[in-house]
Amino acid sequence: MALADFFSPDYPTARARFIEAAEQAGLRREAHDIGFSGPGGKLLSIDTAFLGNPSPDTVVIISSGLHGIEGFFGSAVQLAFLRERAARLDLPSNAAIILIHALNPFGFAWRRRWNENNVDLNRNFLTDYSFRDRDGDYEESRAAYIRLNSLLNPERPPSRLEPYVIKAFAAILSQGWGERARLPRDQRPSPVAITAILRLGLAQLRKTIPVGQYEYPQGLFFGGSRAERTTQYLREALPGWLGDARRIIHIDFHTGLGRHGQYKLFVGDEENSEPARQAATWFGADNIEPWGRGTAYRARGLMATHFASLFGHQRYLCLTAEFGTYSVMRVLRALRAEHQAHRFCRLGSAEYEWAKRLMMEAFCPSSRIWRESTVEQGLGIAERAIEVCSGK
Ligand SMILES: [Zn+2]
Repeated sequence: MALADFFSPDYPTARARFIEAAEQAGLRREAHDIGFSGPGGKLLSIDTAFLGNPSPDTVVIISSGLHGIEGFFGSAVQLAFLRERAARLDLPSNAAIILIHALNPFGFAWRRRWNENNVDLNRNFLTDYSFRDRDGDYEESRAAYIRLNSLLNPERPPSRLEPYVIKAFAAILSQGWGERARLPRDQRPSPVAITAILRLGLAQLRKTIPVGQYEYPQGLFFGGSRAERTTQYLREALPGWLGDARRIIHIDFHTGLGRHGQYKLFVGDEENSEPARQAATWFGADNIEPWGRGTAYRARGLMATHFASLFGHQRYLCLTAEFGTYSVMRVLRALRAEHQAHRFCRLGSAEYEWAKRLMMEAFCPSSRIWRESTVEQGLGIAERAIEVCSGK
């Protein structure tokens, strides 16, 4: 079967294919109903399949769909893995592989990034205390979000005719203008150097928007005000699944950031940190993106950071595998239009469907070349993780 054929057209199909493949491969399964339903009243669940030793020494976790819509890609990699690779694996007797399908089934089913409470789950892994604890870095990105709020969250349905590019351009320019004023006088670009000012603005947006926000429950990138269902479920389930395993590598698949059809493994730590060094040795320095380099962002409430501090860096390494699709502005346009459609459009209306299609293309390009090559690369990452855990 061609790798592009492992992509499913919707969540129920993806879920059914995952379950069928796991059963045919003889894997033990668990399903966690999240208590909401998808289009057509379909059940939404986080499904997990277990391969190998039930009390493992080393574990590879492969998860998908923490950002709902990105599950189309992650699910395709998991299905390809189950169908094409699982039977041929040379897995040591002390190892296990855990496949977690659709961490945000609501977003997957409704073609959104956010969950049933409009929460960005990869900003939700915080302790209750830290939701209220505002450090200096967060204050800076919070102020930037407030400035951008009217651009990001218009209180009306989306429109194909809206001059989004002009609005985005104006917002970036004004952001860049503010950044310019903060630079020492001798480092400021000339007031007519529009490109340099735009660059400053774009760099600032890249640094602030993905950080997440905790002020606007109806806005984009909302990190929540309490631990969401998925967050609670993983916190409860993971320790039991992992038992006394001494080495865990977790690959969490995402899309929408980086160069088209290429990937980076985000470490969620500083360049010189032990996890970054370890990841570079295992997966190749060119494939790793620590904080402060390339498109890697420093966000709060990341799943990777949370479990690394819970289980310890020596034991647990989570790599966020980000596969690039389109430019930041195009991805942001889709997120914004879809959010407007979700809030203000009638289900199935022309505007609603237009925004959802925009979203699908932004996070799961229809190009067969993109699909073939990204699934191939995704399988390569999973196989490398298994080799590492097998001591190779
Ligand atoms: Zn993502």
